[in-house]
Amino acid sequence: MSPRTPVVAANWKMNKTIEEAEAFLGAFLPRIGDLSGTEIVICPPYPALKAVVELSVQSRVKVAAQNMHEEPHGAFTGEVSAPMLREVGVHGVVLGHSERRAHFGETDEAVARKLPAALDAGLEPILCVGETESQRDAGTTEEVLRRQVETDLGAADDARLAEIVIAYEPVWAIGTGRTATPEQAAEAIELIRSLVGARSEEAGAAIRIVYGGSVTPDNAPELLGRPEIDGALVGGASLDPEDFARIVSAARS
Ligand code: PEP
Repeated sequence: MSPRTPVVAANWKMNKTIEEAEAFLGAFLPRIGDLSGTEIVICPPYPALKAVVELSVQSRVKVAAQNMHEEPHGAFTGEVSAPMLREVGVHGVVLGHSERRAHFGETDEAVARKLPAALDAGLEPILCVGETESQRDAGTTEEVLRRQVETDLGAADDARLAEIVIAYEPVWAIGTGRTATPEQAAEAIELIRSLVGARSEEAGAAIRIVYGGSVTPDNAPELLGRPEIDGALVGGASLDPEDFARIVSAARS
């Protein structure tokens, strides 16, 4: 059995008001009850972060933001910094999600600046990487993942790599209902692990690498049953407390 603790994260994207987030937790927390052995992370929109932190403080749920700026403060209108997230009790932060790359022009270089800033502030980064459909069709998946992993982790210390969670999220599988096969996910994750291992053998063995892309309660057992896959980053199916609780329990069995 893998010594790595599985992690299952809910990316709510731009969904749920504070009231809706509270209703979710009211239904979700009793469902996970005494389940232990899996790290559970919920990533609400900024306005709901504090409420979710407060409601989950007695539970095993950790809270992460969906983005941050690399500077601690300054003239960056509309942005939020890592110390601001820490102040409200946030545990982690998603970095480089494909929607931020595609809709907001976020580059690997920008992600590379954010990563050490997140670590230095005490946030657990969940770094997203993954190829588009045309890149997969063109046979460049390996090249794309190599470039993303090498650049995005470029400014992070070898000694801290194991603190990062990497989410392999093929862009063609996000929000499409088209899930990567467990073999495709495992193959990409093995490649990512070897890239981290080339930096630090210890980090390569310890870093948690999860799969994301149309994970549902039905396909989670097969995906999460693979020893290479350390958990999941879940979008659509994480909005429903029962579905998300079923995915969390699939990570444990
Ligand atoms: C995501 O937003 O990271 C994601 C994987 O979304 P979905 O599960 O809806 O494909």
